This record gives sequence, C-alpha cells and structure tokens, in this order.
Amino acid sequence: MTLPSGLVVERDFALAPLTSWLVGGPADYLVQPKTVEELTEAVRWGRDQGLPLTLLGGGTNVLISDRGVRGLTIALRKMARLEIDEESKKQGILRLTCLAGTSKSELLKTMLKHRLEPALFLAGLPGDIGGGVVMNAGVGEMIRPREFVEITEWIEVLRTDTLKIERIEASRLQWSYRHCEGWRPGIVTRVGLRWPLEVQEDILTRVKEANRVRLSKQPLDMPSCGSVFVNPPGHKSGQLIESSGLKGFSSGGAKVSEKHANFIVNFDRASALDIHNVISHVKKTVLDQRGVELRTEVVYLGDWSHVLPHAPSSKQI
Ligand SMILES: Cc1cc2nc3c(=O)[nH]c(=O)nc-3n(C[C@H](O)[C@H](O)[C@H](O)COP(=O)(O)OP(=O)(O)OC[C@H]3O[C@@H](n4cnc5c(N)ncnc54)[C@H](O)[C@@H]3O)c2cc1C
Repeated sequence: MTLPSGLVVERDFALAPLTSWLVGGPADYLVQPKTVEELTEAVRWGRDQGLPLTLLGGGTNVLISDRGVRGLTIALRKMARLEIDEESKKQGILRLTCLAGTSKSELLKTMLKHRLEPALFLAGLPGDIGGGVVMNAGVGEMIRPREFVEITEWIEVLRTDTLKIERIEASRLQWSYRHCEGWRPGIVTRVGLRWPLEVQEDILTRVKEANRVRLSKQPLDMPSCGSVFVNPPGHKSGQLIESSGLKGFSSGGAKVSEKHANFIVNFDRASALDIHNVISHVKKTVLDQRGVELRTEVVYLGDWSHVLPHAPSSKQI
C-alpha cells in the first residue's frame, strides 16, 4: 500500500535484519520515512487505523519478540541528514542539526573532520542519533564528553497525540545514566548538537587506540546489542555476571560472551526467546549469588505476552 506522499506501507515485514542481534519476528506494518513530513503522515495513518505505534532507530539496543510487533512499526534509519551551521563556526562553536535517523558514525566523521573531542566517545557507538539521545548513549571511561547529554543543545519532537512539532531545550530534559525523559509522548525527529571548536590534533590517533581496545575487549565479530544490563550503583554488571560463573552460559543459539560477560551474543541462529532465556537466567543467578538485581539496558519490543504477561515488555508510543 502507498500513502499520498508516496510512502510505502509494507505488510508482514521481517524485522530481524533491522536489528544488531538479527532476531525478532515481523512487523504487521512497517514504514521507513525519509522526512519529518512523511513521518507525520505515517503516524496520522496509523492513528486513523487504530494501530499501536512502535519505533525503531538503528535497532542496536532492542530485543524484538519472535512473535513480531503488532500494529505499525516506524523505522527511522532512512530519515537521515546532518547539517553544519557554518555561521556558528565564526563564533568558535560547531553547531549541527541532525535528523533522528542519522547514524552516529556520520556524526563521528564530522567530529573527526573538525578534530573535536566528542569523536572519542562516539567511536564504536552504533545506532542512530535519535536512539543516542533517548538512551543517553555513552561510554564508561572518565572522559569529557562521555554521553549524549553533554553535546545535545535541543531536540525536536513530533507529538503523537496532536501531531505538532515541539522544540525542547536539552536543559529542560531529565537526563540520567542511559536514559532521557521529558520528551514523551512523541518521536524525536531532529537533534541540535554543539561543541566548542577546540581542535585536538591527536584525536584520530586516540580514536584508533579506543577502537583497538574495544575490539580486544568486546565480541564485535558476533551479533549482539552491546551491554545488556545497566551497571547497578556501585557495581559493574560484567563483573557480577563473570563472578557468578556465567561466562559461556547458553540457551539455544544465544550465550553470555566469554570475552565480555555483559554481552549476550547470537552465536548460532538464536531466537529472541533464546536471548530472553539467557537474560532471565543471568538475572536470577546474579540475584541468588550476589544479591544484586540487574536491570536490562536493552528495550523489549513487540509481543512478549507469552513469556511476560504482566511486564511492560512491549514499549509502544
Ligand atoms: C556492539 C555494540 C556496542 C554498543 N556499545 C554501546 C556503548 O558503548 N554505550 C552505549 O550507550 N550503548 C552501546 N550500545 C547500545 C546502543 O548502540 C545504544 O544504546 C544506541 O544509542 C541505541 O540507538 P539505536 O538508534 O540503535 O536505538 P534503537 O535500539 O533502535 O532503540 C532504542 C530505544 O529508543 C527508541 N527510539 C529510537 N529512536 C527513537 C526516536 N527517534 N524517538 C523516540 N524513541 C526512539 C526505541 O523505540 C527503543 O525503545 C552498543 C550496541 C552494540 C550492538
């Protein structure tokens, strides 16, 4: 089916290839808008049809159910553009406006071109810029900047109830570790970023070194979602999991990585349920053995009613 703007609505669209874990069933309906206007049209159409809405950025922090996603899924990765405000450079600041589906690697390239410090934390962060803001993505190292909160100036949100666009200054949002609130209900459509134009001559060398360290510590040769659990206060999830003897624990085609215990890898055509089973076992074992409750950083999307009948598992808008 095609909407008046030419935007195609696909039926029973396989979502697994749109995720970094490469698991999950189909979306009842899927659209991939390229502009905010197309996005608005899609949201209006879904609303008129009475369909629940689910959003997908780069798909690098989600676990989509094998049963798929009911209603309309909107994948934002084609809504991508990065604009540089050349005027701001005269005031010694690099200001950028990015559509939410712009990849972080595109942003990394721009920061590297200008030899700026944010390149260091962006190196190795997959996914989109919208997803980066929503998750307040960042790194554990004590560097500056280390999270999206430090480089974000404002965001623009499409209100899913009124279909109005609203700009929100970053200072009015509630940012915390791997989380950002104060913009719902809505879809982050554009992000304004800024950083002082203070050239770091050695930034490329430092980025290469950071990439080398990541490659040596993380199982980047297998499909994963990065760190599955957030670090509980005063603890490192990876260390809790490792000291509970869980490295290598597997269910079906999913296992706790031997290289980094906070990664669960799809090593052999895993299902989403395999991954969920590993997550559940890890949570239970760490609670039993170490007395610490782990919370997932990864967001469950789609129909999980068969395993999580009471949990707010299917995050819809
Ligand atoms: C190998 C690997 C390494 C990783 N390393 C790190 C790391 O070091 N640090 C870190 O923080 N993360 C890391 N991650 C996790 C992930 O890349 C980040 O959380 C990323 O910011 C998620 O962005 P995304 O676009 O993929 O979002 P998705 O996974 O697509 O979505 C995440 C959530 O945000 C919602 N969402 C996405 N876009 C929007 C939008 N525009 N408006 C409203 N809601 C939206 C989705 O509905 C979902 O609930 C890693 C992942 C992998 C695979």
